[in-house]
Amino acid sequence: MSTYLGIPAPRGVGHLRGERSFPDAAHDALGDSQLRRNLGHATRTIRGKRAAVVAELDDWEQLRIAGEAIKGATMAQLDVHLERLEQAVTARGGTVHWARDANEANAIVTRLVRATGEREVVKVKSMATQEIGLNEALADAGITAHETDLAELIVQLGGDQPSHILVPAIHRNRAEIREIFLREMPGVDPELTSEPRRLAMAARAHLRERFLRAKVAISGANFGVAETGTLLVVESEGNGRMCLTLPDTLITVMGIEKVVPSWRDLEVFLALLPRSSTGERMNPYTSAWTGVTPGDGPQAFHLVLLDNGRTATLGDTVGRAALHCIKCSACLNVCPVYERTGGHAYGSVYPGPIGAVLSPQLTGVEDNASLPYASSLCGACYDVCPVRIDIPSLLVRLRAQHVDAQRSRKIPTPEAVAMAAASWVMETPGRFALAERASRAGRVLGRSSGRISALPPPLSAWTAGRDAPRPPAETFREWWARR
Ligand code: SF4
Repeated sequence: MSTYLGIPAPRGVGHLRGERSFPDAAHDALGDSQLRRNLGHATRTIRGKRAAVVAELDDWEQLRIAGEAIKGATMAQLDVHLERLEQAVTARGGTVHWARDANEANAIVTRLVRATGEREVVKVKSMATQEIGLNEALADAGITAHETDLAELIVQLGGDQPSHILVPAIHRNRAEIREIFLREMPGVDPELTSEPRRLAMAARAHLRERFLRAKVAISGANFGVAETGTLLVVESEGNGRMCLTLPDTLITVMGIEKVVPSWRDLEVFLALLPRSSTGERMNPYTSAWTGVTPGDGPQAFHLVLLDNGRTATLGDTVGRAALHCIKCSACLNVCPVYERTGGHAYGSVYPGPIGAVLSPQLTGVEDNASLPYASSLCGACYDVCPVRIDIPSLLVRLRAQHVDAQRSRKIPTPEAVAMAAASWVMETPGRFALAERASRAGRVLGRSSGRISALPPPLSAWTAGRDAPRPPAETFREWWARR
């Protein structure tokens, strides 16, 4: 086990880092009114469902506390639990592989698929395989990966990227999905309408044929139970169960933080997850498998345990709380920033509040430096998180790390210059009073509205994103002296 504590793990590669900063990407997203309508409708609906089912439980808060405690204790002994998981999987006929980063994981999976002689695979929706860019790596090796989750299928056929952890096609409405199916789905009924049932039937017919001919499946895992070596996938459509049972070979890629010590611990998460994610009392499909069972299901099982920056994150005893995430997406659905920009603006496979704290830690904060600022720090994410991750505090902490990293630059940033100037002005009452009087010159602006929407450089950086109030005719000190 050479990839865990004590040995610096390589920082993440794969789809954890965007090409553009969050403000630039968010600016474009905010200009798309259709996107905002789609997101507003979808997040409002899921929020309402979640709130209703959570209110049914008197002990919801105790469940959250239990979830937080189990995750904290598991992370403190992650190496022990992972080794137990490895032993249990191996004892039941599975093979465990350790991947330090995305490249290693992709190479392992590609080699395993090649060894079967197959050129196509079916896939269960999986954040870990998106994180490492597995589909692209397989395509480079001449292997076609078919996504089978309905939303993932829509994203794949549309040549698009997922924009939500749970509902990857949340940015698409029914009319757009119909267009994608008509354009990209071979043999689809040209009379297809945008009625949800008709769209689902079209996807079902398309997928059924792939399920029946696939010999290899690739999945993620929501949980891995160390005591028995059992892996679990929870989903709503049944596509996961088809992938997990029909093919001859099953390859599961799981982040190392997904391990839970025992079934007793799992019980807590199976109560927290469905209510937080889809607003359901229980998952429609919970599939669990342990190694290989002769004559039943896949006869070869491989588990790829993925680090990809997690060990480095674990090394930070505060920041590691981000690894407690069970990917329910509740924090996305309540986030006022996510609701307006959608997931693509984050540039990372993990969007929303959890993405803003997880991605910078997996890649190193300077590689995703704009994400910790993609928040109003309203705290709604903390309130809904089923494992009580204090996302606002983690965001502030990451911002501080970014600012500290900037201090070592030879040429200071405009922000650092502005802060140094503000600090100098505020150091003495005399300087501050002088600055107040000088600011009165700004009263010539914003005369009609009381707001100033454009200031000259360098202050234009402030008004590019917000209005400034018109300076008052009388300062507080002057008012105080007069009275
Ligand atoms: S941070 Fe909490 S609320 Fe957000 S996805 Fe993870 S578990 Fe869910």
